[in-house]
Parts: sequence; C-alpha cells; structure tokens
Amino acid sequence: MPARFAVRERMHLNSSTNKPYSQALSAHLYWGDPASWREAQTGLSCILRRHRDRCGELFNLAASIADLIRSMDVAMGNLCARTCPSCSDPCCVRADVRYDLRDLIFLHCSGAGLPLGQTVSASGGGACAMLDADGCALPRVMRPFMCTWYLCPPQMDIVRAEADPEISVLTDRLEELKRRRKMLESGFLYMVSL
Ligand code: SF4
Ligand code: SF4
Repeated sequence: MPARFAVRERMHLNSSTNKPYSQALSAHLYWGDPASWREAQTGLSCILRRHRDRCGELFNLAASIADLIRSMDVAMGNLCARTCPSCSDPCCVRADVRYDLRDLIFLHCSGAGLPLGQTVSASGGGACAMLDADGCALPRVMRPFMCTWYLCPPQMDIVRAEADPEISVLTDRLEELKRRRKMLESGFLYMVSL
C-alpha cells in the first residue's frame, strides 16, 4: 500500500480495537452495549474532526434542526400534559425506541449533547433507560427523533381538532424536521465518501 494511503488508513483506526471507525458505526447499528456505544461516539467525533474544514454547512443544518425541535417544545409538552398523565399504556415503557445513525449525526453536528448510552440494552426489552419517575430525563433535542415524531392516537386527535396554531402546525414541522434530518445524513455520508 502506498505510504500516503497507509497513513490515511491508520487515521481511520480506533487505537483500542484497531478496527476502522466506519466499522464501529455500521457493525453494531444499535450500539446497545456500552463499549459499542462509546466506539460509535469516538468514531463520529474522529470523522468530524478529520473533515472539520468541510463541516460548516452540516453544522448550520444541524443547528436549524435543533432550533426547530426547541420551537416545538411548548406545544409538545402541552400535548403530553393533556394525554400522558392518564395514559394506561405509556409508550416510554413499552416502545423499542433507539438512537439511529441519523440521531447520532445530528447530536454530534449540533452539539446538543450526548447521552451516556443507548435507550435500550443490547438484549432489548424493558422500559427506556432515559425514563425516570418524572418522565423523560432528556431535553427533547437530545431524545431519539422517534420520540418527537411519534404522536399517539389521542394526541393525533387533539392535533386534528385543535384551533391553536402552535398545535395544529406540529405535523408540518415534523415533516420539515424529517426532511432536514435526511439532508443532514446525506450530507454527512457524502462528506465521508470524499
Ligand atoms: S405519548 Fe401517548 S402513548 Fe405515550 S405516554 Fe403519552 S398518552 Fe401514552
Ligand atoms: S428517550 Fe425519553 S421520550 Fe424517548 S422513549 Fe425514552 S423516556 Fe420516552
């Protein structure tokens, strides 16, 4: 292998496992155990550092996603206050929600903060690890997108019937979030391919 490619290849290796970081990001797609979670975060940090000169647009896009999520927080909290306290089957207890690659790219590019681990263990099952006695322990911007995207049937009924524009506009904002997140992932993968 020519020397310049050998050096480049070494930069892609995790010093503790000697595996390419790209492998850490794809081999354990759900990163349910602490070691693979840490490896994925290290891999993403390393990739972003290596491409930092080309990250400006990605960081701006991630910041716009974070702003949009925060702009929905009051309305989403309002919906939750009207439905969750009386819920007989809370979704955070039964749902199998996990951070996916798009979530992690967003968290790294936005600087919103990194959770200490995946929401579920490698074996799955049980309530979400972020659930505590007062509800979700994470600010909305740090939750898996699925937690914001999912409006349960009682909440959808309110959104459809609601006159308050902050609530009735939620589904449009969710679609816009989905669009921007897809753009962010595509931009990240394109950058990595260069
Ligand atoms: S979002 Fe819906 S399903 Fe989840 S806890 Fe609240 S009311 Fe229950
Ligand atoms: S991250 Fe928070 S909102 Fe999402 S499933 Fe876990 S406890 Fe529920």
